[in-house]
Amino acid sequence: MPDFTPLKPKIVLGIAAHPDDLDFGAAGTMAAFAASGASVHYLIITDGSKGSSNTKISSADLIKIREKEQRRAVKIIGGKGVEFLGYPDGELEITMQLKREVVKAIRTVRPDVVVTMDPSMLYSVERGFINHPDHRAASQTALDAVFPLARDHLTFPELYAQGYNPHKTKTVLLINFDKGNFVVDISETFDKKIDALKAHASQIPNIRLVKEMFEELARTVGQRSGYKLGESFVRIDLAN
Ligand SMILES: [Zn+2]
Repeated sequence: MPDFTPLKPKIVLGIAAHPDDLDFGAAGTMAAFAASGASVHYLIITDGSKGSSNTKISSADLIKIREKEQRRAVKIIGGKGVEFLGYPDGELEITMQLKREVVKAIRTVRPDVVVTMDPSMLYSVERGFINHPDHRAASQTALDAVFPLARDHLTFPELYAQGYNPHKTKTVLLINFDKGNFVVDISETFDKKIDALKAHASQIPNIRLVKEMFEELARTVGQRSGYKLGESFVRIDLAN
């Protein structure tokens, strides 16, 4: 079993399918990293254009609203910036074109920690859900981009020719509430997580319920490592 010490990253890149994914799963962690001096960046792959049950709203309006919400949330957690790739929500496929764009972002930001979802999560009987196919596609693409694609200059040589030099990410954190092997202490940043979630008003009709649910979850997860409140991840420290 690896001996995981708390992380002190200098540069962090979160990669996810939708505006709000990183904040639900990891905003407390992102805020804690930013508070300890890390430069935190978000890469959001889809445009979030399907995420509404309001039949009066158009996809075009929703894209604008959700982009604005995500920008506000990044500001709240103390992040440096967010890039949107604009792929259509709900239709994400793992393609070489997408991998190239994610590699480009990794070679630009040059993170020592990448945070994404866990692509192995297909469904949960206990929680009663099927993991959104965009979540799986985005996180698998992120893993493929970290290793080996961003590392090898002969992969996407056109990027290398444009000055996007190869990059080795040291650590990957996969958001996983149930099967994590690593907990980040978010006791000091839980309030920022809730403020970041509040920014996603189009997605959260009842923030009070969400706060209660996530406080309970953060307490349960935190106990695993002796913290008051925590967020749970599968941590992979890359040896190669
Ligand atoms: Zn999502």
